[in-house]
Amino acid sequence: MIKIGIVGYGNLGKGVESAVINSKDMELIGIFTRRNPRDLVVQSDTKVYALDDAFNMKDEIDVMVMCGGSANDLLDQTPAFAKHFNVIDSFDTHARIPEHFANVDAASQIEKTVSIISVGWDPGLFSVQRLYGQAVLPYGNDYTFWGKGVSQGHSDAIRRIEGVVDARQYTIPVEAALASVRNNEDPVLDTRQKHTRECYVVIEDGADAKQIEDAIVNMPNYFADYDTTVHFISMEELQRDHAGIPHGGVVFRSGKTGMNLDTHQLIEYKLELDSNPEFTASVLVAYARAAYRLHKDGVYGCKTVFDIAPGLLHEQDGETLRKHLL
Ligand code: NDP
Repeated sequence: MIKIGIVGYGNLGKGVESAVINSKDMELIGIFTRRNPRDLVVQSDTKVYALDDAFNMKDEIDVMVMCGGSANDLLDQTPAFAKHFNVIDSFDTHARIPEHFANVDAASQIEKTVSIISVGWDPGLFSVQRLYGQAVLPYGNDYTFWGKGVSQGHSDAIRRIEGVVDARQYTIPVEAALASVRNNEDPVLDTRQKHTRECYVVIEDGADAKQIEDAIVNMPNYFADYDTTVHFISMEELQRDHAGIPHGGVVFRSGKTGMNLDTHQLIEYKLELDSNPEFTASVLVAYARAAYRLHKDGVYGCKTVFDIAPGLLHEQDGETLRKHLL
């Protein structure tokens, strides 16, 4: 059995907990948190520890799954744990991945651990699809659409506006843009043509709805470059109709082959997720299996999804996979 630890218990941590418990070849050893362990109510009977207790349990854990947030936690936590443990994280601040990779790699050299960063669906499975697309169809265009799904960052940005009590923001691909890619038109799409934004907002009694709507749709970096719709709803409606964390998206590679590069080829890879954190967690757990196997083979250092052979992710061994999946 592969012995797993979880660092950080938010949405993703809960998803990893259920994914590990549902994995036949894994065992969940502990959940580690910065909060008082006694305050945490977890879904299973897994023991909860204070974060620093982990460093006394190095021999009991094969892979630590880092479930902190990209904005405030992973840049520090992943290298700190990579010094002593094999680790997986879902770091998704694209611009800072090279810097994070270098720090985690240096930490992994110390005790020769394996770390796999930026695992999930984007970055993660979508990155792999983009790579396959470009490798197989070097003449062509990439298109990535996100949604329909909740954007936590955009929901938070609305909540910071004065008079707003709570909010949920959905990112939605523009159907005409999807159709144009599928119709082999190789469109050049600007930001507004690819996605729309839909906001469900609860405001304080007496707050000025028109003013709040203007503040949302004109917010630079978040909404100003998109067609944004704002719906004002009650707290009951928000809790009843918008409690889930769905997401998904589509990665296309639209390419050309043949002597004259005039044969069209289209790859479409689509995710429709009822729960973004539970799906992301399932990806992390598959890569934890790969980290365990690589470590057993004496491999060490920082890796990304590009470096991991697909067979290492699967619960079954190579011989079984060759019989049934090839
Ligand atoms: P959360 O905000 O739910 O959790 C982040 C951390 O905050 C937890 O590890 C936990 O640490 C702490 N925390 C959680 N709940 C509470 C609370 N009630 N009170 C105080 N502290 C709390 O983030 P998510 O789990 O939703 O997401 C984690 C990261 O996953 C995101 O930042 C994103 O970067 C990444 N992600 C990546 C994806 C990909 O495709 N690559 C897709 C989706 C997400 P502690 O227990 O130590 O207090």
